[in-house]
Amino acid sequence: MATAPSSTGNKPAADIETAVRQRGAEILGLMDAADSPSLFSRKGFYGALMDWSLRDEHFKTQLFRFVDVLPMLNTSSEISRHLKEYLDNDRVNLSPALRLALKASAGASWLFGSGVKAQVTGLARQFMLGNDEKEIVATLRKLHEQDIAFTVDVLGEAVVSEAEADEYSTRYLKLMELIATETPNWLPACKSNLSARGPVPPLNLSVKISALYSQIHPTDPETAIEKLSARLRRILRRAKELGAFINFDMESYALKNLTLRLFKAMFDEPEFASAPAGGLAVQAYLKDCEADLRDLMAWARERKRRITVRLVKGAYWDYETVMAQQRHWPVPVFEHKAETDANFEKLSAVLLENDDVVDAAFGTHNVRSIAHALAQAERLGVPQRNFEFQMLCGMADSIKTSLLQMDCRVREYCPVGELLPGMAYLVRRLLENTSNEGFLANKFAKGASPEALLRNPREPGGTTSTSSQTTSEKSGTRWNASLPAFRNEPPTDFTIAAEREKLSAALKELRRKLGRRQPLIINHKSVTTEAWLPSLNPADQKEIVGLAAQATITEAESALASARAAQPAWARWPVEQRAGILERTATLLRRDKAALAALEVLEAGKNWTEADGDVAEAIDFCNFYAAVMRELDRPQRTQLVAGESNFQHWWPRGVGIVIAPWNFPLAILAGMTAAAVVAGNAVIMKPSDQTPLIAGRWMTLLMEAGLPAGVVNLLTGPGGSVGAHLVAHPQIDFIAFTGSKEIGVKIWETAGRTLPGQANLKKVVCEMGGKNCLIVDGDADLDEAVMGAIHSAFGYQGQKCSALSRLVVLADNYDRFLERLVAAANSMPVGPAEAPGNLVGPVINRDAQRRILALIETGKTEAKLAWQGRVPADPDACYVPPTIFTEVPATSRLFREEIFGPVLSVSKAKSFGEALALANDSEFALTGGLYSRSPVNLERAKAEFVCGNLYLNRPITGAMVGRQPFGGFKMSGGGTKAGGREYLQNFLSPRAITENLLRRGFAPADEM
Ligand SMILES: Cc1cc2nc3c(=O)[nH]c(=O)nc-3n(C[C@H](O)[C@H](O)[C@H](O)COP(=O)(O)OP(=O)(O)OC[C@H]3O[C@@H](n4cnc5c(N)ncnc54)[C@H](O)[C@@H]3O)c2cc1C
Repeated sequence: MATAPSSTGNKPAADIETAVRQRGAEILGLMDAADSPSLFSRKGFYGALMDWSLRDEHFKTQLFRFVDVLPMLNTSSEISRHLKEYLDNDRVNLSPALRLALKASAGASWLFGSGVKAQVTGLARQFMLGNDEKEIVATLRKLHEQDIAFTVDVLGEAVVSEAEADEYSTRYLKLMELIATETPNWLPACKSNLSARGPVPPLNLSVKISALYSQIHPTDPETAIEKLSARLRRILRRAKELGAFINFDMESYALKNLTLRLFKAMFDEPEFASAPAGGLAVQAYLKDCEADLRDLMAWARERKRRITVRLVKGAYWDYETVMAQQRHWPVPVFEHKAETDANFEKLSAVLLENDDVVDAAFGTHNVRSIAHALAQAERLGVPQRNFEFQMLCGMADSIKTSLLQMDCRVREYCPVGELLPGMAYLVRRLLENTSNEGFLANKFAKGASPEALLRNPREPGGTTSTSSQTTSEKSGTRWNASLPAFRNEPPTDFTIAAEREKLSAALKELRRKLGRRQPLIINHKSVTTEAWLPSLNPADQKEIVGLAAQATITEAESALASARAAQPAWARWPVEQRAGILERTATLLRRDKAALAALEVLEAGKNWTEADGDVAEAIDFCNFYAAVMRELDRPQRTQLVAGESNFQHWWPRGVGIVIAPWNFPLAILAGMTAAAVVAGNAVIMKPSDQTPLIAGRWMTLLMEAGLPAGVVNLLTGPGGSVGAHLVAHPQIDFIAFTGSKEIGVKIWETAGRTLPGQANLKKVVCEMGGKNCLIVDGDADLDEAVMGAIHSAFGYQGQKCSALSRLVVLADNYDRFLERLVAAANSMPVGPAEAPGNLVGPVINRDAQRRILALIETGKTEAKLAWQGRVPADPDACYVPPTIFTEVPATSRLFREEIFGPVLSVSKAKSFGEALALANDSEFALTGGLYSRSPVNLERAKAEFVCGNLYLNRPITGAMVGRQPFGGFKMSGGGTKAGGREYLQNFLSPRAITENLLRRGFAPADEM
């Protein structure tokens, strides 16, 4: 455990501890006299479910997943089917009675299904207020009468479009109006709204900023602030008029800096300098939150304005942990529950010490945390009514009443909204209530002793929890010991201002050097040519990013000769040293990450995130292939036989040509080259005409890393002549190609013809296109499916071989999904890749623009144009408006041909079987995906979806090296999986060596 934070001021720690225990015992005593919360009573439906959930983790997961999908299930038979799919399997340890009930449900689904929905809705009602205005008012009034203050929040779907963000802000405004018309009649004032400093506003609204703008992007906080401010201004203005209080809730870590900036920016505006009253939540589970808190207090003090800080532990612990681990980012949250508890206590003291400027609100259901705040206040002489305790609706009611009895101020957090879309909120509450680490489960379900519940989190093992799992234990170090040691390069975290500035500065620097000439590089020497081809910025065809030398057959022959000359010596380099060169190159790529990404932005039109991702992938290819080659270098014993040694090992193939596309201008070129080279081969790189400068940078880095001359040669120039010449050349042993089907098939055929004098049968590593399909099932999570579809179809303008081009939506979901998809597409920022935050930019060049626009025109005659986006009216840029077609016949060009642009076809399917049949009706088999919450359909997709990379419940692009080996079959390619462990074998020939160890009947003992 890391150093536990501590703040006990001047009073000896032992005294504070005694006071905490006294206060804690007092609260626990009062609670015991009250009823235990109904959620934990073992009686009835909820009780039984909670009880089983606490006993069996797998049951809990399945049950909560079922609760999560329930809102999407419209018929009783669907509910019954899902219930069985989730719970009626061998892994779930069900009570015999529950299993019998499930079996019976099959016959009486009409009764069982609606009954279950009613039960779960009832459960949800414990935690949220619903949408009925009368009910909302009645519940809040009841709280008021109990002297419990409230804060209201609006629940709903994730906001995926600007239309939805508008709707959300209107809901916040309406809710304020509704309550504002009622509260003045509620007299006398609720005691919890009476601070020692005077009355506080009875109307208290909690706002989530993610609900107020749909396009928050880490690279572009400025636009986010601008758009969020516009919507918040309306809310704050009305709050000021109504005398309401506005709290900013704190969400995921990615939004933290933005939320803090926004809070300060809004309340710095002269209009809001003194009103409305405002506050925000600070999450104690964040390792860096103390600095934020101190900064906020300094800001408030400078402005002589009181703010409220709601100190919470944080609701997204699992999410933060998993996302950071997946991206190899530092985990922002503490790993041990006790550390969070200790930090909460430390910050409680900090808040109370700054009582002159901050109104403290302690958002916790943990009696130890509450008792600690009370004890600290006593120590500091802060009146108990200067601060308040906040708890969630439906949770820990006995703590609320106990605190009221102790004359504390208590506020309840009341989410308002339709119950079923609020199911994600319900699941969060259920998880919290059944968490092994959580205070509530330990107190109410496990009956932990008062000593354990009040234990100081700084003591060894100091936590209420009966478990002491750490992050890595929980998430499981799923590192397979048999895999080579490799770790993906973390993507750049653009929420960090310094990272954004780095790329911005790199772009400026690049602009100063535009027009550079990229010569050929043969045998490590620069070779210039007569002809030079300009490489143009897709966003400005008048801007020449640089010029590339144009090789002729003469230079192609010269490059081949130098590769042939260098290869035998290179093949004899120990693998360790060959791998070392790649690893050094990876380090250099990392050093130049921002400069390389900037070049991709200008030369390939990739947006910031995509450009950064491409450089990271190139780094990954170098490191991964180095690790795999080390592993392959160990000869493998084929069989253990007495008296004979049998080993297999690998030899390089010789000399090859690498033909790379422009869409992943660094990663694909680097990947194919690195694999071939680390295997002991020599290559001639023929990059795309559109991205020669990036190829030139890659070549330079290989040389800087110490690659010997001739092993890699750079040949920019016309593919139709020099590329074709080398593909057909008898001295070429292998071809690594990524590109279109048209060229790929030609290469395949040419390579199959053996010429006189040819030493080897040519090996072709061929990755071609796709017509990739995503199915959206009737029970899919639409928030995720809409965003997954948008990113897969329109990320990098659809110019990825993995991009989504066919969307098949089950009829049950079709109308709602399409409506949200079009609204989300309509909200996508479109513009030059250089401006951070643009999701869609220009396509690669004029030819591509003309070709895609023509296909869209054809599409209009084949299908219904459902939506077409607007693009900047810039004649110098190669924009194609993002386009969505519906009612697309399966025979149409739209449905069958790879478009390689921002064009999406949507089809409706009546059944899951029909959806799969549509998805599989293609000559390609590259990527595919399914959004579904039906375990049976997910399994069926695994078995029947014809594609090389299948993605379930996530976008279908963005394969990571080593994690998702990438590549397809049928007309998508030769099934060679770039970034997979087997990939290197394409560049190697296997050899088996057998030695007879018997000499005159005598064999060495260790071989017997
Ligand atoms: C009124 C109110 C408003 C809230 N508003 C917000 C908000 O705006 N933003 C927000 O994020 N949350 C918010 N929360 C939720 C809050 O962050 C906690 O999730 C919740 O209250 C549980 O904490 P506890 O002190 O009640 O319970 P406890 O059981 O004492 O603590 C549980 C908490 O400990 C932390 N934890 C669990 N396991 C570990 C571990 N292994 N290592 C480190 N830490 C761990 C987590 O934060 C977890 O939620 C709010 C809560 C309340 C009551």
